Amino acid sequence: MAPLLPASMRLFERGWLSANNVLFTGEETALVDSGYLTHAPQTLALVRHALGGRPLQRLLNTHLHSDHCGGNAALQATYGCHTAIPQAEAAKVAAWDEAALSFRATGQQCARFGFDALLAPGQRLELGGMLWEVLGAPGHDPHAVLLFCPQEGILIAGDALWENGFGVIFPELEGESGFIETRATLDLIGSLDARLVIPGHGRLFTDVAGALQRAYSRLDYLSAKPQRNAENAVKVLVKFLLLERQRIALADLPGLMAAIPVVRNAMGQMDIASLAQEQALAERVGSEAAHLTSQGMSETALQTQARKVGGSPAHVSNALVHAAVPIHSTYTTLSTWAVASLIRAQAARIEDNFLLDQ
Ligand SMILES: [Zn+2]
Repeated sequence: MAPLLPASMRLFERGWLSANNVLFTGEETALVDSGYLTHAPQTLALVRHALGGRPLQRLLNTHLHSDHCGGNAALQATYGCHTAIPQAEAAKVAAWDEAALSFRATGQQCARFGFDALLAPGQRLELGGMLWEVLGAPGHDPHAVLLFCPQEGILIAGDALWENGFGVIFPELEGESGFIETRATLDLIGSLDARLVIPGHGRLFTDVAGALQRAYSRLDYLSAKPQRNAENAVKVLVKFLLLERQRIALADLPGLMAAIPVVRNAMGQMDIASLAQEQALAERVGSEAAHLTSQGMSETALQTQARKVGGSPAHVSNALVHAAVPIHSTYTTLSTWAVASLIRAQAARIEDNFLLDQ
């Protein structure tokens, strides 16, 4: 089979804790996205090995989520590489404003890095001897960019388009618009003559129309009921935490989740009472869920709590704000639900009262 990528490009497919990295090995060397902080030594080793003694000259980020820029600091310390980040993040990065950057909100880590240039829609760059266009890709992240090479039909999509879906639509969790932007970004991708997509996670793919069709149907599903986006966000953040830590004591999970601001926001859009009922049902049906619940709460306790919390999302946040409901028990319900969901999706397992990555 003929290689899919031009000779001056290499893809490091990294999995989920670290986003994929794209290395350009032409006259000038460059890397797009740098993985998660705890994988930085591996990122450095991959780059060093592939460059065979040449320095890394440039680093670019599709967006500043911790799994895309967590290796920036290590790469800068090693190579002093010229770094370009999305324009709208400049002031936050310059001041290293962790509250405004996404790291604190998601409970994730990122070492401080600097930048030399900004990426803005409409710019053109040369990478690997090819011309690339910078395109805005709001939705998953309001400031994300795409890199598109018209000549080769290659799109570096970040988390705007995967083979099966796209990243969590974070702005919606804060009550900001995200579904509309996600749709516009998919429309934009559909208008490009992209023949090969390098996603932020997962393998590269050529069935762009198929991926777009799946992304649109996922977007329809999520936007029809925003609580689905919130539920997805909670599951993704717990899975990320698990990937980072590998094992989490079940007893610690509610507290860990309560400490993540995005989880708190998402919970305001979720129907905790119905999750508790769903959980109680699962308890009667599934042995794993029963095992789980026995760690935390009895079915009666769950139902009592469900009654206390009430049905509407607004009621939930209100209740939390006024501490009418013990926050801990609400997070216990949420954590029990998240664990059961991850187990059902075969994305986690339980061993000796610990949640383990698969
Ligand atoms: Zn992302």
